[in-house]
Amino acid sequence: MAEIQLKNISKRWGSFVGVKDLNLTIADQEFLVLLGPSGCGKTTTMRMIAGLEDVTIGDILVDGKRINNLDPKDRDCAMVFQSYALYPNLDVYENIRFPLRMRKIPNAEHEERVMRAAQMVELEDFLHRKPAELSGGQRQRVALARAIVRQPNIFLMDEPLSNLDAKLRVSTRAQIKNLSHELKVTTIYVTHDQIEAMTLADRVVVMSAGVVQQVGTPTDIYDNPANTFVASFIGSPAMNLLEGHIENGTFTGKDVKISGIDSPLNGPVTLGYRAEDATVGAENPSINAPVYSMELLGDATMVTFRIGGTIAIVKAGKDFRAKIGETVTAAIPASICHLFDATTGDHL
Ligand code: ATP
Repeated sequence: MAEIQLKNISKRWGSFVGVKDLNLTIADQEFLVLLGPSGCGKTTTMRMIAGLEDVTIGDILVDGKRINNLDPKDRDCAMVFQSYALYPNLDVYENIRFPLRMRKIPNAEHEERVMRAAQMVELEDFLHRKPAELSGGQRQRVALARAIVRQPNIFLMDEPLSNLDAKLRVSTRAQIKNLSHELKVTTIYVTHDQIEAMTLADRVVVMSAGVVQQVGTPTDIYDNPANTFVASFIGSPAMNLLEGHIENGTFTGKDVKISGIDSPLNGPVTLGYRAEDATVGAENPSINAPVYSMELLGDATMVTFRIGGTIAIVKAGKDFRAKIGETVTAAIPASICHLFDATTGDHL
């Protein structure tokens, strides 16, 4: 069991606020992802849970017990870092075994536990190699096995995939998802990669400048972003955001017009739509503009327009082709549009 509660947590260094008023309950066995751009306070949050950073204000509770003053070694958290942090002079077997020795687990249990952890990350054939003799992906699997072997109450993972190449990232990501399903340990995972967040998380916490912007399931956050920051951070491509005015249900921006929006608002707004919800070649187009760029993805073609100084993307079929500069029409259905406050960026 490990339910983690963060109660009104703030972290300050002098006058600089790294994390502000964070309130969050992470359920037992939940896989929670902290997502946000560099410097938004993800790592600091995780380091406070691990006990590597003091909390300036607030309480951290695990299963109802306040742990603010517990030493890191007494918190029963296993950490996996981006940098692997392996011991270069120890082979894979001894690296995985290390936490068992540190925690004075009886020697008789070591072999079985090391072998089980090694099997879970498919490292059985590499047990006698040193870290320098391994690929990046294999090293990260050793780091994962070393976390697993402890059978901790909590896993803390800080960008564990960011040093891997794109292909290895996908397979290691699948392995982490599978492990979390098998092990059922409360996990906090830090990343700036929204695809990792969407694919791994039970819930995602989106942060910006030390402040939580939204907490929700990946689907919640994708379908109902709380503000333009979240909308522009989630999805590949991210939500398109267009500046303009709405009046009597019609949005008008530079080179774009969308009628039939079900909203009583009148005045300036930011309109959001997802590329996959729009279609090219429409007869009553919302957009009628030259193509700025085309991206062939194999299963789809992304058609990009430049609308009022911003990029607007529409996802077309895999066989759609148009020349750059050629005028193309596109429809953005009123029913899928999101409206955001033009000043605060909050969802209206
Ligand atoms: P990244 O993805 O780059 O690791 P992050 O979201 O994990 O970013 P943090 O490492 O949590 O960000 O840092 C949050 C902010 O706090 C940053 O602006 C950082 O410069 C600042 N910060 C971190 N550690 C300290 C420190 N010891 N003293 C002062 N400021 C710090």
